[in-house]
Amino acid sequence: MTDVWTDALRGLRPRLGAETYDLWLRPLVMVGIDEGTVHLRAPSLFMKEWFENHYRDAVLEEMYTQTQVRYGIDVEVAEEGAVTPVRLEEPPAERAPAAKGRSSAPIGLSERYRFGTFIKGASNELGASAAHAVAEEPGKRFNPLFIYGGVGLGKTHLLHAVGHAMHERQPELRIVYLSAERFMNEFISAVRFNECDAFRKRYREDCDALLIDDIQFIAGRDRTMDEFFHVFNALYEAGKQIMVTADRTPSDMQGMEERITSRLNWGLVADIKPPDLETRVAILRQKAEDERIAMADDVAVLLASLVRSNVRELEGALVRVSTFAALKGVPITHEFVREVIGDSGPAARSGQQVTVEAIQKAVAAYFSVRIADLKGQRRHKGVARPRMIAMFLSRELTGASFPEIGLRFGGKDHSTVINACRRIAEIQGQDSELRAILTALRQNLGATSC
Ligand code: ADP
Ligand code: MG
Repeated sequence: MTDVWTDALRGLRPRLGAETYDLWLRPLVMVGIDEGTVHLRAPSLFMKEWFENHYRDAVLEEMYTQTQVRYGIDVEVAEEGAVTPVRLEEPPAERAPAAKGRSSAPIGLSERYRFGTFIKGASNELGASAAHAVAEEPGKRFNPLFIYGGVGLGKTHLLHAVGHAMHERQPELRIVYLSAERFMNEFISAVRFNECDAFRKRYREDCDALLIDDIQFIAGRDRTMDEFFHVFNALYEAGKQIMVTADRTPSDMQGMEERITSRLNWGLVADIKPPDLETRVAILRQKAEDERIAMADDVAVLLASLVRSNVRELEGALVRVSTFAALKGVPITHEFVREVIGDSGPAARSGQQVTVEAIQKAVAAYFSVRIADLKGQRRHKGVARPRMIAMFLSRELTGASFPEIGLRFGGKDHSTVINACRRIAEIQGQDSELRAILTALRQNLGATSC
């Protein structure tokens, strides 16, 4: 039997990624539900606070999406050996805000991708303005609206934002959002199971606005292109809004039928370019604020000038910096950002890459243990602790993935590495001796401490 917590995690996992999930969510267990509050138990205060600051809202949102019930979450910290009775009850039905007469939010739209969280700048101004116009007057101004640009520049975000905004203004509109890949898969299975009528009804008739992400995907897939062509015509003739995104212009999509590219050019074709520095800084500030990450303005400028390629990379960099800072219990300074992002980080400064092997060697020498012991299975404290420290430093200084570190430590499971990193991060908060050891080891490895 599943429960609301497990279901929510299952739903979030693809979005958060396996690593984040293993590190921050899996260790929390549900111990009961009452009065619409889900009770969780975290293994430590650190884990509890991290969860509350970073993931609680996403989990609540996901629970709401799945159940239409506004739950609360209460997290307790486990005391060793304590057993809390598990009590499972039905969620209180009267709490569900059954929005009768209002169609539910369009399926598949992410809560995070709204106009309110989309930063406008010179690089995306045209696309963002057109998206607003489309959301305000679907089918009137720019039809179809075609947004194109490189990866991680906000196309999907804008598409979702249009879906949300349209729905909020006109809840009765039947908005259909999906990726072109899903459109193709649904179409293929409709053909296979003789459900073409239902498919056509859904996309040609029961649809007031069609939002399709990454349309380039159907290029070269003849039957899907043919189907899309008919869907397009039916909607267009009925004055329904069509909005699509792609990684290039209609004419540049090789293998796309000419009758489709010409139609995609009928409305407005708007590009999104990589954001300039000012926009990158604004995006960083917003994300930091959302995630309650304390970061000075000049540090945001530094980070934004180090990561230029796209917004997704920028977000990834922020997550890395803030995760490391939290693990180490240090503020996010200039030096720290440089070190984590690597512009003139420890490896670059000492002119050589810090490797897992070098870390094992340094740790073994420091504690007078054998490298074979670090890679072995013995749990004796004299070995177990240096091993955890070596894993922790491997993660910090080389950025290698948990599974990779596990492999290099004698083929251990990635969860062992995750636990080790978490233990060390926790203990060093209270243990000044451990902090001093880590500092010394970083220096030995040519990495300045921070
Ligand atoms: P694309 O679909 O173009 O590959 P996404 O829409 O998935 O890119 O954007 C990647 C990430 O960057 C998302 O988390 C998105 O919220 C964020 N992002 C992109 N552009 C902006 C922006 N202008 N303001 C705020 N966040 C943005
Ligand atoms: Mg996308």
